[in-house]
Amino acid sequence: MIFTYHKISFLKSDKSTVNLWNFIRQMFEARKYKVVFLKDYDINDKNQIVLRFDDGYKSVLKYAVPVLKFFGYPFEVFIVEKFYDKAEKGDKNFMDKKDLKEVIKAGGRLQYHTKSHPDLSLIEDKEKLKLEIICPEYLKALDKNGFEFLAYPFWKHNCETLKIIQENYKGACSGNGFAENTDYSMDGIRAEANTII
Ligand SMILES: [Zn+2]
Repeated sequence: MIFTYHKISFLKSDKSTVNLWNFIRQMFEARKYKVVFLKDYDINDKNQIVLRFDDGYKSVLKYAVPVLKFFGYPFEVFIVEKFYDKAEKGDKNFMDKKDLKEVIKAGGRLQYHTKSHPDLSLIEDKEKLKLEIICPEYLKALDKNGFEFLAYPFWKHNCETLKIIQENYKGACSGNGFAENTDYSMDGIRAEANTII
């Protein structure tokens, strides 16, 4: 199973935020399983789990990374070029280059989550899709072991998307009821504060 996180906070939790205390509990629970990188993940192996963090929020570095480091878990951070650009320009909500280096040092791997976070299932134009899906070289250079997987924004894609992704990635992540449970539509769930791993 793939558990997808977005933001981590100190106390407050909502649909896209898990607070630190629940996150620590979930990481304790994760000890029952083998936590693996996506590269090593077998979608049919019920004993494996993947920890996925979407959008590149800075709160992941602040609260989740020290916990992940403590447990020695591998994890995947899916970044969006638009949000990374914002961070590089000073937006403190997202991780910049320096932050992402910390993520890698702590055992994380970087993957791609599109250029501007659109609903890919609504885009028909092939060139527009390519622009969203193919990760630019300057971003790939941030992690030489990463950028082999894509996560669909809003979990969704269409047939046209699939062809481009198969040419550029080893696999892709969906979830929350939209997945076909194949290597290019890997299933998973959104981790919330009350999620039990
Ligand atoms: Zn996202």
